Amino acid sequence: MLYLEVTTENAKETKTLGRKIANNLVSNKQHIGNKATVLALTGDLGSGKTTFVQGLVKGLGIKQRIVSPTFIIMRTYRINLKPQTLNFKTLHHIDLYRLEDKIEAELKNLGIEEIFSDQGNLVVIEWAEKMKDFLPADTIWIKFGNIGEDQRKIVYELKS
Ligand code: ADP
Ligand code: MG
Repeated sequence: MLYLEVTTENAKETKTLGRKIANNLVSNKQHIGNKATVLALTGDLGSGKTTFVQGLVKGLGIKQRIVSPTFIIMRTYRINLKPQTLNFKTLHHIDLYRLEDKIEAELKNLGIEEIFSDQGNLVVIEWAEKMKDFLPADTIWIKFGNIGEDQRKIVYELKS
């Protein structure tokens, strides 16, 4: 298991961390065949999850502005990285904040199984603990904590 803990002092630092993690995922991409890469984000409202995703998308070369998908559960962005082979093609940004019940049915509607079974997919999930039973075993967990007005503790956990 890999465990890393970072404290950021402002939103920009959290975005930078997101960008660095994206760069790292791209350069170390190993998943092939039928497995997506899944990032599970947890932490209270305002702890910096969406801010982190904004940095992540920059690292993926996505030009569109990221808005929180809170009201629509999932947004999909095309990734254009070179070289094209063995690289991420699509970012799925999921936010389960509003989802209280029938979570399994909602996930099925989203086509989560197909999403998880494509190696070209990078999936980042806010409030991921709500679907922990449905996440792949090698999901990367990133926990966000509010420790001051602008300070956020971010813990990165890679189980396998
Ligand atoms: P979440 O998605 O976890 O609910 P957001 O990223 O939407 O959180 O909101 C975080 C808020 O906190 C933003 O308004 C951001 O500007 C502010 N903020 C202040 N300091 C930080 C920090 N160190 N990291 C991330 N966001 C911060
Ligand atoms: Mg959010």
